[in-house]
Amino acid sequence: IGEARTALLELIEQSDNIVAFTGAGISTECGVPDFRSKDSPWMRYKPIEFNLFLSDVLMREEAWRRKFALDDIYSMAQPGRGHYALANLVQQGKISAIITQNIDNLHQMSGVDDEHIIELHGNGTYATCLSCGLRHELANVRHDFETTGAAPECRSCGGPVKSATISFGQSMPEEAMQRAHDVTRACDLFLAIGSSLVVYPAAAFPLLAAQNNARLVILNGEATPLDSEADLILRGDIGDILEPFSS
Ligand code: NAD
Repeated sequence: IGEARTALLELIEQSDNIVAFTGAGISTECGVPDFRSKDSPWMRYKPIEFNLFLSDVLMREEAWRRKFALDDIYSMAQPGRGHYALANLVQQGKISAIITQNIDNLHQMSGVDDEHIIELHGNGTYATCLSCGLRHELANVRHDFETTGAAPECRSCGGPVKSATISFGQSMPEEAMQRAHDVTRACDLFLAIGSSLVVYPAAAFPLLAAQNNARLVILNGEATPLDSEADLILRGDIGDILEPFSS
């Protein structure tokens, strides 16, 4: 990995418009399990599809039960070496944007401002009303849910309240998609970090970068379907590989 890391360092030095694209693999060392590992709690607390959430109040209650069970597992998570490495590169003006599929808020917690973060799948640390968009704090939602057992409704309009994440079957956030598209087209180096690169449309961004003549680097513990498109592949532990950038 030493040689590949030197090559990565050179690419980073040569570039001043880097886009980082992160997936669940950057957060596993922080205690947030990724999606596809065989012992993943996401398999026990499977996400509920959007149309079921909308149409069935019992499903809404079940979705909130699973959400809070998962929160118990990883609400103590703190950013890891990968997050701090990217935060440093943002601060140095090297990284123009972090596009993330993660919902764990750890890029924000590592000190990166919202301006530099594009969340494709939303954020699991708060909730919103699906009818009027009002933000609801999770602690309040949880208190009400655990007191009444009823699926939470908006205090302003009575609409269904949902974790501010994008569920399977829910449309992608338009503004985030557009921003991700724009920064990807503008960058000269695209770092795909800790993603299996199988979830679309998110996984289209590394492809778009490669087609747009940016260098594509894939950093992941296992092979991905886009490896053949990459200029450089670093196969190993993300925290170990990015540690030299993290302080
Ligand atoms: P994924 O689980 O499909 O892929 C993660 C990849 O990271 C895997 O290929 C795995 O081998 C690799 N990996 C895990 N730990 C690693 C490490 N320490 N070093 C190197 N590689 C490592 O994740 P995805 O591609 O992000 O897609 C999953 C979807 O589920 C996303 O859309 C996301 O919204 C959601 N999700 C988010 C979180 C989170 O917010 N942290 C966690 C689980 C799932």
